[in-house]
Amino acid sequence: MAVLAIDIGGTKLAAGVVDRDGRMLARGEVPTLANEGLEPVLSRIVGLGRELLSRPKIADVGVQRIGVGCAGPVDIKAGLVFRPPNLPGWTRVPLTDHIQRSLGLPTILENDANAAALGEFRYGAGMGARSIVYMTVSTGIGGGIILDGKVWHGVKDAAGEIGHITVCPDGPPCGCGNRGCLEAMSSGPSIARRARAAVASGRQTRLSALANPTAADVVRLAQDGDAVAAEVWADAMKYLGIGVAAVITFLAPERVVIGGGVTKAGESLFRPVRQHAWERVKLVPVDSVSILPAALGPDVGILGAAAVALDA
Ligand SMILES: [Zn+2]
Repeated sequence: MAVLAIDIGGTKLAAGVVDRDGRMLARGEVPTLANEGLEPVLSRIVGLGRELLSRPKIADVGVQRIGVGCAGPVDIKAGLVFRPPNLPGWTRVPLTDHIQRSLGLPTILENDANAAALGEFRYGAGMGARSIVYMTVSTGIGGGIILDGKVWHGVKDAAGEIGHITVCPDGPPCGCGNRGCLEAMSSGPSIARRARAAVASGRQTRLSALANPTAADVVRLAQDGDAVAAEVWADAMKYLGIGVAAVITFLAPERVVIGGGVTKAGESLFRPVRQHAWERVKLVPVDSVSILPAALGPDVGILGAAAVALDA
């Protein structure tokens, strides 16, 4: 048995045909061109799926279901997508219905972070565990919770928004309307924003030579001995560690798996995050929990959507 898996992102649409063991039998992607609005994006999604299903070696595989991962908010049972911030014009879109009708296969929707969590659980850094929390740290900070092998959806499918727990009560405003959320302290753009603030304060730093310093610049200069960059980076990692500690204390998962662009910093991220997290976790035996890098790389969205369809 195999499934078609579709990962809908604000920048690209990626899809694959994946078998039960997580092997990718075919893969394709096209740019989302999200600013063209809903209809053109929907027809690109269907076109990509149709193209994969019609490839000669796939026609014989027997694709039985379609799994779709899409930025939330979503209503999984009703198959609806509501105004994801990176998909303009998507207001209450009956996505499951549309794909099901166009491609003729039962379709299951999941929000992208939950799908990625399930992908890592099934095929990546969560393999062999019973419970994991997955976090993605990039433009935003998202999360997914797998408890006893199943996604924990919560009321209105709203669980897992790790990026929006408060870690700094009087911190900067967050896109969600709150202040001092983890996302406002430790996401890529928030690290870049703090680098700009450090430059504007007039302190001596090589960040000031860059027109638009990114989180990647901050960690690179920090590793290279720039004290201001090191301070900005260390501060962001402290808050990330506080967020991870909260998650571990509350859920006691076997593993916390962290992926997303900012984790390209490798041990420069994991070392301080582990240190801050372990300083704060008092009631869960820390040697029973691992904080690990994600293992699936850029195809986590496809493999996650596949796991959603295979589990259905
Ligand atoms: Zn927030």
